Amino acid sequence: MIDLHAHTTASDGTTTPAGLIETTLAIGLEALAIADHDTFAGYDEALPLARQAAVDLVCSIELSTRMPQPKPLRPKSVHLLGYFLSTPPSGSFREWIDSLHASRRERNTRMAERLRQLGLDVRREEAEALAHNPKLTGRPHFARLLVRKGYVSDIQEAFDVYLAESAPAYVPRREPRVPEGIRRIREAGGLPVLAHPLRLGNGHPLEEKDAIRGMVGEGLRGIEVYHPDHSPQHVQRYLGLAETYGLLVTGGSDFHGDTKPGVLLGVGTGNLCVPLAVLDRLRASDGC
Ligand code: AMP
Ligand code: FE
Ligand code: FE
Ligand code: ZN
Repeated sequence: MIDLHAHTTASDGTTTPAGLIETTLAIGLEALAIADHDTFAGYDEALPLARQAAVDLVCSIELSTRMPQPKPLRPKSVHLLGYFLSTPPSGSFREWIDSLHASRRERNTRMAERLRQLGLDVRREEAEALAHNPKLTGRPHFARLLVRKGYVSDIQEAFDVYLAESAPAYVPRREPRVPEGIRRIREAGGLPVLAHPLRLGNGHPLEEKDAIRGMVGEGLRGIEVYHPDHSPQHVQRYLGLAETYGLLVTGGSDFHGDTKPGVLLGVGTGNLCVPLAVLDRLRASDGC
């Protein structure tokens, strides 16, 4: 059994990279991919420990991208996994990720200004102090700060009143569009894979199929078939789509620790079991 989708404290998980390597050993996983949101920091930290413990650690990332929609709809959020199986991510890809962090920081500065204009005593640095990785400070940290300062009673209220896309303190951040995400991953030596495809089609299989066909045209190479959100019927549907479009198949728990209680490494909500053959096929096709 393997797990090709796990988060650490470097993004929004609650388990440290070292903790993940320990758990991987304890439960006997044959391979683990650390796929943090928009950062390699967790993978970088885990790599020497994985080598020491002879854990097969796969380098990956989960990029947040946007797919524009016809007006008046907001662009859809699409998560792309990038797997760097034989080639480490290029320096220019890492620089690009850094530029996304810089634009996130600018946006956070502006969001703190908006909150102050609304009469709340909030500074960007205070939100950053609540993030494990200050580079990935975002609205969830601002929400926690507002709760701590007593401006709202819970996280949801912070979003509803201040931080949601329709709320007064919201400032959008620069997010790459899907084609750019796919292109950047490929240019950097990685395999671009659509994460948890169930979130793409809002439950409409036709809409989902159209979107996937479009992404295949843009260079998508794989689809995350095995995921705790997917029922056996979903798995069958995605295996069918993989076959139709010649996509590689991946899978993982999307483990986040306490951020997603009830989702465990390797087994997800209990029934997940991604075979090692999935990774063997990815490796065999890498570079093609
Ligand atoms: P950011 O990347 O800083 O824009 O923050 C995005 C994160 O905020 C998402 O991953 C969610 O965890 C959270 N989030 C976004 N919108 C809402 C909402 N309306 N209610 C609760 N949480 C939200
Ligand atoms: Fe996450
Ligand atoms: Fe995701
Ligand atoms: Zn994820």
